[in-house]
Amino acid sequence: MTRLLAELLERSSNIVAFTGAGISTESGIPDFRSPGGIWTRYDPRDFTFDRFVESADVRAQSWEMRRELLATVPEPNPGHAALANLEDAGRVLGVITQNIDGLHQLAGSSNVVEIHGNAREVMCIGTAPALGTPDGCGFTASHEWAMERVDSGDQDPRCPHCGGLIKSATISFGQALNPEIMDAAANLAGRCDAMLSIGSSLQVYPAAGIPMRAKQSGARLAILNDEETPLDDAADLVIHGRAGDVLTPAVAAVSSANGDGVGEL
Ligand code: NAD
Repeated sequence: MTRLLAELLERSSNIVAFTGAGISTESGIPDFRSPGGIWTRYDPRDFTFDRFVESADVRAQSWEMRRELLATVPEPNPGHAALANLEDAGRVLGVITQNIDGLHQLAGSSNVVEIHGNAREVMCIGTAPALGTPDGCGFTASHEWAMERVDSGDQDPRCPHCGGLIKSATISFGQALNPEIMDAAANLAGRCDAMLSIGSSLQVYPAAGIPMRAKQSGARLAILNDEETPLDDAADLVIHGRAGDVLTPAVAAVSSANGDGVGEL
């Protein structure tokens, strides 16, 4: 199977990876289903966008959850590194990720479209956001900026520019996706000649529609996941395995655009 993946990558020069929580489990970040995953201890219905906006108590609980979630900075793993190596070889258009952990960038991938945002940043969502849609002034800051305010006794930090609510720069349950970011993802999916879906259950829409868009635009679709997904029947190649274990040898076997072996980088 690794050889088939290496062959598919070798025949492709404009590869896009679509990644989910499964590429980061090998960095110690649990996905939604794993025992000990954050949502086995917190009820997601308590953290919908509308509840966050409506309730100062929910906002205070949210900061405590985020303190726990981001207490340690995980390291990228061999799966992230393999994708960065494939980019160094000149074969990758970009990475579209559902993850909010920033590990692709830490591994060295440069064109990363984060459709669910980044948990290490916070943003202003305005003074009167409604219907799941942020209405902020554009202010952003680090997660640490917000935690410093919470630690100094302000359970409900506000935007220093417009007084709006401050929220993690991630897409919460019930929150609209950013249309510009979804357009960027759709653009990449429409231009690639191979779409590699890695570590995603492919059950969360509209994000999970991105690999199918690539397939419908003529790209080959490979799915690498440790369990079946609803799109397996539509894929050109399906590998059930662990992301790092499969990607590392497959990418090492691919030559770079200038003829060097990726494994020698
Ligand atoms: P998911 O939890 O629904 O699915 C992850 C899939 O990866 C599962 O099918 C699982 O069997 C598989 N998997 C787990 N470890 C793997 C490994 N080592 N190799 C290969 N496959 C592996 O996650 P999803 O599809 O990404 O979507 C759910 C949502 O979870 C997304 O919105 C995402 O924002 C959020 N999420 C993100 C993180 C993160 O940023 N690291 C972590 C948890 C959840």
